[in-house]
Amino acid sequence: MTTSPNCSFPPATVTGLPRIGPHRELKRALEALWAGTIDEAAYTDAAHSLRVGAYDRQRELGLAADYAIPGDFSAYDQILDVAITTGIVGEDPDGTDLDEYFALARGTAEHPPLEMTKWFDTNYHYLVPEIADERTFTARPQRLLDLVAEAREAGHRIRPVLVGPVTLLALSKPAPGAQHEPLERLDELVAVYAEILAALHAAGVEWVQLDEPILVTDLDAIGDAELAARAGDAHARLLSAGERPQVLITAPYGALRAGLAALLAAGPEALGVDVSPATRAVDPGWLARLQTADFGTTRLVAGVVDGRSIWAADLAAEYEVLTRLQDGGRDVSVSTSTSLLHVPYTVAAETRLPVDVAGWLSFAAEKLTEVEALAAALEARSSGAADPTGVRKPAFSRSARAVRTRAESARVLNPEVRARTAAIGKRRVRTGSLDERRLAQEALGLPVLPTTTIGSFPQTPEVRRARAALRDERITEAQYRATMEAEITEVVRLQEELGFDVIVHGEPERNDMVQYFAEHLAGFAVTDHGWVQSYGSRCTRPPILFGDVHRPAPITVPWSRFAASLTDKPVKGMLTGPVTILSWSFVRDDVPLSTAAEQIGLALSDEVAELEAAGIRIIQIDEPALRELLPLRADDREAYLEWAVDAFRLASIGVEPGTQIHTHLCYSEFEQVIDAIDALDADVTSIEAARSRMELLASLDPAEFDRSVGPGVYDIHSPRVPSVDELIGLLEAALTHVPRHRLWVNPDCGLKTRRYEEVRPALENLIAARDAVRVRT
Ligand code: GLN
Ligand code: ZN
Repeated sequence: MTTSPNCSFPPATVTGLPRIGPHRELKRALEALWAGTIDEAAYTDAAHSLRVGAYDRQRELGLAADYAIPGDFSAYDQILDVAITTGIVGEDPDGTDLDEYFALARGTAEHPPLEMTKWFDTNYHYLVPEIADERTFTARPQRLLDLVAEAREAGHRIRPVLVGPVTLLALSKPAPGAQHEPLERLDELVAVYAEILAALHAAGVEWVQLDEPILVTDLDAIGDAELAARAGDAHARLLSAGERPQVLITAPYGALRAGLAALLAAGPEALGVDVSPATRAVDPGWLARLQTADFGTTRLVAGVVDGRSIWAADLAAEYEVLTRLQDGGRDVSVSTSTSLLHVPYTVAAETRLPVDVAGWLSFAAEKLTEVEALAAALEARSSGAADPTGVRKPAFSRSARAVRTRAESARVLNPEVRARTAAIGKRRVRTGSLDERRLAQEALGLPVLPTTTIGSFPQTPEVRRARAALRDERITEAQYRATMEAEITEVVRLQEELGFDVIVHGEPERNDMVQYFAEHLAGFAVTDHGWVQSYGSRCTRPPILFGDVHRPAPITVPWSRFAASLTDKPVKGMLTGPVTILSWSFVRDDVPLSTAAEQIGLALSDEVAELEAAGIRIIQIDEPALRELLPLRADDREAYLEWAVDAFRLASIGVEPGTQIHTHLCYSEFEQVIDAIDALDADVTSIEAARSRMELLASLDPAEFDRSVGPGVYDIHSPRVPSVDELIGLLEAALTHVPRHRLWVNPDCGLKTRRYEEVRPALENLIAARDAVRVRT
């Protein structure tokens, strides 16, 4: 083996950057390309400017000068990129055909897209490659070579970033009918990676980055030790296969266990680890394991700056950590714990944040400065400077000020909230057993197979316009309210006309099920430009939780009360649960998530009490993200599920036995969380089930889950209108698992993203199917 060691590893680097563009240029270019309003050349130009812009910014901030910076651009998804580059999917021999690329990502009339799922415990979603037994893997390095050449032309050296072979296979799934588990084909894939590395070496590339986040998880099917052994072995083979660039292996999103020794034994030139404060808190032994590990000649790339939180780093504390890692003569570079893909571009773009809060934040641009400052101080220390941190005084001072003012802020710590949570204690049991509650809830007068929706109705252009107009102060609050009430009136009438039993108000006033609550709860801030990529061209703007949470005024009560005034049928109040609010927000790092969840649960319990007092006798608390925050390590899961369930129960506990609590979960994979769902102690649980054709219901053993269930029969993720017969089939399938008196009829999620042209006929068919099934016994 030979490498090209003519370029040493940078003292300061990041493992990846946001790629959607500071003004979501990539989103716009992609959507214009797909809509046919720009051609491929115009799209390519836009992507080119974004890439070079990112390289230039790193140079301005002192991270690029003579070093290889990450070349981590992706037009849609980095897993799809590497699946094509290794020949796992796609037919184009070069692997650069954009039409094919987007066809795989988005589907075509003939072929569905690849399945999409969450990337570790983040809110990024990747495409799941499917591997057929007969597929031969092939090296298609052209896309990477093009990136390298483009960067060179602009005066930059990049290190191409690829998802590593172990992670790639661990996240892939067997194609339908395939006999082999993807990981069985690791040897074969390593040979292809070796070819790709050789091609990059031949093109003069000095460094390559291979991301192996799977090594911070307990891959349940295999376990940490076995996975580490296979990964160590694979990388040892890859690194000794032939001519190649120097290699940085990274392990973001958590602490390595067996993987640390295994990767070090493989001997990459650099190893990037997540040693952020958050990860050190989850695994208190992690820093010591790093300090005692034998790095040999491997450079430690210490990700002390958290790549996924939005808080300014405590530079003095992180400098301390770095000095401990450096002691013993280890070569240390400073980096981020993960790619900065998960944070917005810059705090500087936010002009409407409270000034004190803005001073506590660091987005991608500010994090680059933090990394550079830490590296400069560490270098000064190595060369014996008396006051190493003094070389970056402005950065260290900003950090110290942020840490101090945040700790002292009255916005952050609210003694009233603390006193209330301290007083509630641990007992969170509803009044009345499930059976007693069932009896009390007969007063609701619901028929057999009660029928409802999950909450939202299509958001019409008028509704969106009114929201924008209110934001820009072009209409008054009263005008806005009138528009919303008109919409609610229509939605209630429609449900009555169609024959729904439990009516919703339709959620027209909500821009988003989490942001809406964040805007109405004290302790949250919302940004104007803080977009992060969710998948492909889709971005979200997570709210920022910065302080203790309380509810200054009723949030949903007036809307629900208005809806109830329009109908004699029961109206269902609609709230987003504590875990989902946390999961889709940027969270605090100064209190445990469990504390924040408890505060949100308490604030929601105030809302629940007021809804009940207003005569709302059915209240749904959505927790579609319950499974999303599930820790990557098995032994952290129990504690998580305990506080998650506690927070939900806190929100819902105060109601009378006759008030019915519903919850809604979007997913259908229940393993690992079924006991927790039961422990929520909701009277009715609605779930996504249409796509799996009710198969998941088999896992709801009535002996263990004796609750009412609403398995979604209308798949709202597709524009398709299901036929009456199809819906009857699904309801009958559901009845083979769920006793008739416990079955609810509903779509599988909110209707917000659909149009009335689809929703109306689909709901008509839903009611017709229900009526047909009701009369059969
Ligand atoms: N109540 C919400 C809605 O109907 C639930 C959305 C969701 O589960 N994602 O829009
Ligand atoms: Zn849902």
